[in-house]
Amino acid sequence: MFGAVVVGIGTAGWVRIRDMLAPLPGSPAEKLNVRAFISRRKLDSQQGVSQVTAEEAASREDIQVAFICTENVLHEENIRTFLQAGKHVCVEYPMTMNYKAALELWNLAQEKGVILHEEHIELLTEDYKELKREVEGKLLQEGTLHFTGGALKPGFGFPAFSGIARLTWLVELFGELSVTAATMEEDSGNNYCKMTAKLLTSDDRPLVWIEERGPGLPRAKNINFQFDSCTLTEVPPAPRGAVGLFMQDLIHFSAKLAGQVSPGELHKEKIRILHCLRLAENIQQLCKR
Ligand code: NAD
Repeated sequence: MFGAVVVGIGTAGWVRIRDMLAPLPGSPAEKLNVRAFISRRKLDSQQGVSQVTAEEAASREDIQVAFICTENVLHEENIRTFLQAGKHVCVEYPMTMNYKAALELWNLAQEKGVILHEEHIELLTEDYKELKREVEGKLLQEGTLHFTGGALKPGFGFPAFSGIARLTWLVELFGELSVTAATMEEDSGNNYCKMTAKLLTSDDRPLVWIEERGPGLPRAKNINFQFDSCTLTEVPPAPRGAVGLFMQDLIHFSAKLAGQVSPGELHKEKIRILHCLRLAENIQQLCKR
């Protein structure tokens, strides 16, 4: 069994506790036992789990795993605290707000011999799986992914990082990318922003990623992918899966803890995560110019 602490009791943190209290029967997630949570607020017990300080959690021997569910700008220091204490870490995406820090954290995890896992529930959605099936075997000519959504709360960072789920879709669908240009329109008084990044696939096919957020904007992914044989203009609708997304991620993470994920697969995931963080950083730098 692995004792766990959840850091940050927002939407994600609350779901993490819920899922560990009722893991999918027969799955490796049954090996996780939530023992405590950490919050900057003084809270009553949450779903029967009590609050501890970060210092206590880091030093407790019955806690071997930390879930980092805070807003994005706090991920890096929380991950570092728990890796340094020799704990396995599961962090909600994005891992960090810059590439260098993520690389350092992966090295630290390796040095300590623990698992560092970044949640990517967007890759577990039925919509994504259907889209992946549709794209398979087709040759991309050019494409656009335009995401819209409501304004983000403070602490979620630059859109290329807070929206790394979309970038991760593009990388998983079309392979490693490079950034050729990026711009940012902002109206901070109205909490509005629109980031446009121009990307290229390894065989020089152009992709545009737009991340647009503002009060009242519907949460939607608009796509236009032109292939040699056809054009896809919407994400194929798919019925929801039987197992929740965070539960699927929990199972994947706990399979890593149980040594059930091959080194090859772990390495592939790490390369993809670092590639996406590097792209996000390149986009941010181009927007600042
Ligand atoms: P959230 O806004 O619900 O919580 C973020 C932080 O705010 C947490 O640390 C929480 O403790 C704190 N917080 C929440 N309510 C508060 C309050 N009333 N007073 C003071 N502090 C409060 O955000 P979230 O959706 O849980 O996101 C956390 C992380 O999970 C982010 O890194 C995000 O990118 C990631 N994530 C979330 C989802 C999702 O569906 N919610 C999906 C994928 C990844």
